[in-house]
Amino acid sequence: MTGSRVPHSAHSSVPHGGHSSLAGASVGEARTALLKRAARDAMDYLEGVDGRRVAPAPEAVARLNALRGPLPPGPTSAEAVLHLLDEYGSPATVAKNNGRYFGFVNGGCLPAALAASWLVSAWDQNAAFFVQSPTAVVLEEVALEWVRELLGLPAGTGGAVVTGATMANFSALAAARHTLLKRAGWDVEGDGLFGAPEIRVVVGEEAHPSMLKALGLLGLGRKRVVRVPVDGQGRMRADAVPHLDGLTILCLQAGNVNTGAFDPAAAICPEARAAGAWIHVDGAFGLWAAASPEFRKLTRGFEQADSWATDGHKWPNIGYDCGIALVREPEALKGAMSVTASYLATGEQREPSDYNPELSRRARGVELWAGLRSLGRSGMAEIVERTSSHARRFAAGLRAAGYEVLNEVVINQVLVSFGTAERTLRTIARLQAEGTCWCGSTVWQGKTAMRISVSSWATTKEDVELSLAAMVKAAEE
Ligand SMILES: *Cc1c(COP(=O)(O)O)cnc(C)c1O
Repeated sequence: MTGSRVPHSAHSSVPHGGHSSLAGASVGEARTALLKRAARDAMDYLEGVDGRRVAPAPEAVARLNALRGPLPPGPTSAEAVLHLLDEYGSPATVAKNNGRYFGFVNGGCLPAALAASWLVSAWDQNAAFFVQSPTAVVLEEVALEWVRELLGLPAGTGGAVVTGATMANFSALAAARHTLLKRAGWDVEGDGLFGAPEIRVVVGEEAHPSMLKALGLLGLGRKRVVRVPVDGQGRMRADAVPHLDGLTILCLQAGNVNTGAFDPAAAICPEARAAGAWIHVDGAFGLWAAASPEFRKLTRGFEQADSWATDGHKWPNIGYDCGIALVREPEALKGAMSVTASYLATGEQREPSDYNPELSRRARGVELWAGLRSLGRSGMAEIVERTSSHARRFAAGLRAAGYEVLNEVVINQVLVSFGTAERTLRTIARLQAEGTCWCGSTVWQGKTAMRISVSSWATTKEDVELSLAAMVKAAEE
């Protein structure tokens, strides 16, 4: 080892590393002080947020104006910039981390994922190529394999870590488009869709709008889809699926964003596969039910698909942003995504950029790795089971108070009506303004409802009881 011959402080010989700042402290010392302060501000924020109202106070939102205005002509110290953020930014955030945020389908952020994200930011890795960050590329690969296992998907499935389920749907559907047209003798990446054999896309009446957006981005059209009728829970009716062929993409859903219901994949997939259709699954949160022995049966049949989209930032609580695209034949994803250029010479390793719509990108696979590593198989199962049990408690409590639960509470989603649409909307507005918890509204098959999504690892039984009481009070006022 030649380690002892390395200068005492290796980084002191790096240009700038040891130079003096204007304040007299070294640049490294000033940076350390700044980061310690940022860490302290973040910890104070998280500790304070538990007792704070969930939606920010209107006055706090108004104070954000302090951060507007033209870009100053000269520099501002980093300390002053951080102070501005904490002084005006923190109070106007939505308190998503206190376990009483039930809006949309938003998870929280696991401590390990948060800590990893701090480290990832310090590393500032570009996760496009192995040569740019062996750590980012290896951890992403491992995390993708863990996700595949947790979701019960076939060995050999590969994928990409992207920003969310929208981009995961986009990426997986690009692989579908590539494969079906390649089989028909058409190079869609080279020649585009003009004059290409027609692809038919079949979706459920209840497909998530972001999946339709992904289809639009791919030139497959948001409106051009064939919509299959659904039942009262939003599940595609297996008996209503049209004839499929080798130029069809069939999009199934695992976890309806309102009801949490699953399309009957086991009834639909065998015939679709036999017909040569590409089966894609939008499983942004619901697919994670496969990680729990108690809930796994809901995902039966989805493993027969060709591609899947899911989110790390929903049920696994990885923090924003983290989506995952998985494709049974990784070469299909590569066919759609890889680029070549003389300066992009690549080696033997899996290169994320070959499977990804992005080139330069954040090492978000590291946060996914860290969050899943901290949970283990049992931890992921527990999040699914605990949040679903909280959802059942919400449903029972609201029913007991005399209100109508509109859905079968199969996982973590609850839809409740407080009577007329006006009364339901008034209740939601009061609840949001009161601040104990936060729920949004939706319209489910013509009926206005409040939607409760229990997706955070941090939600406790006490949070549920406090929130239930606040909901009933808001409805009775
Ligand atoms: C949330 C969701 C999406 C979109 O996911 P993003 O991560 O917000 O892009 C797509 N489909 C379903 C079913 C969802 O619940």
